[in-house]
Amino acid sequence: MKAKQKTIGLIGGMSWESTVTYYQIINETIKQELGGLHSAKILLYSVDFDEIEHYQSIGAWQKSAEILAKIALTLEKAGANFIVICTNTMHKVAPYIKQKISIPLLHIAEATAETLKEQQIQKVGLLGTQYTLTQDFYKNILIEQGIEVVIPNKVDIFYTNNIIYEELCRGIILSSSKEMYLKVISKLQQNGVEAIILGCTEIGLLIKQEDVSLPIFDTALIHARKAALKSIDK
Ligand code: GLU
Repeated sequence: MKAKQKTIGLIGGMSWESTVTYYQIINETIKQELGGLHSAKILLYSVDFDEIEHYQSIGAWQKSAEILAKIALTLEKAGANFIVICTNTMHKVAPYIKQKISIPLLHIAEATAETLKEQQIQKVGLLGTQYTLTQDFYKNILIEQGIEVVIPNKVDIFYTNNIIYEELCRGIILSSSKEMYLKVISKLQQNGVEAIILGCTEIGLLIKQEDVSLPIFDTALIHARKAALKSIDK
């Protein structure tokens, strides 16, 4: 059976633990949608995360913007029809990358905002790296869509951020860290949020919908699924 599919250009490796999720969800979505032996057309450029994280930690965002833009261009030249950056945090440099390519970029925060709006969520708790939580590049996209965003307190941001880089990005899943995240989620719930965004692509490795009474919006799952659907030429 013939099915026309676009080629998805994935920029992954940030960390590779969550790129595995993208690869799986994209292919599962294609299987659900097209059936048979269909699978996704993917070009994956996986970076060395140590380098990217180093530039994050010293605030050298322009340096990582240049690295990722070059990769996006490489994927475009190789035949990708659109770009997917498999991390929330590095969307800080998405505007720069967009300028450098002539194919679309499927933005993770836009995809998430769209999904929240479909479910009529107006006030949401956001979890993620310290960069995603304390800077505006991500939250503003939700706020522009009329969604109120509540973030954890400073101490909770510190601990949950550490869990991302010291554990989840290294494939370490600890029940004590899960407890920590659940406590932070319950504090957000006390602040009146209607749902929680897992605004870091690794948090879904630790927290699942069945762990939490509030609806969970896992950005890795949302983004990957939208990428798969976008790749299907209807
Ligand atoms: N994957 C994570 C995110 O979605 C964090 C790793 C990174 O700094 O890119 O934000």
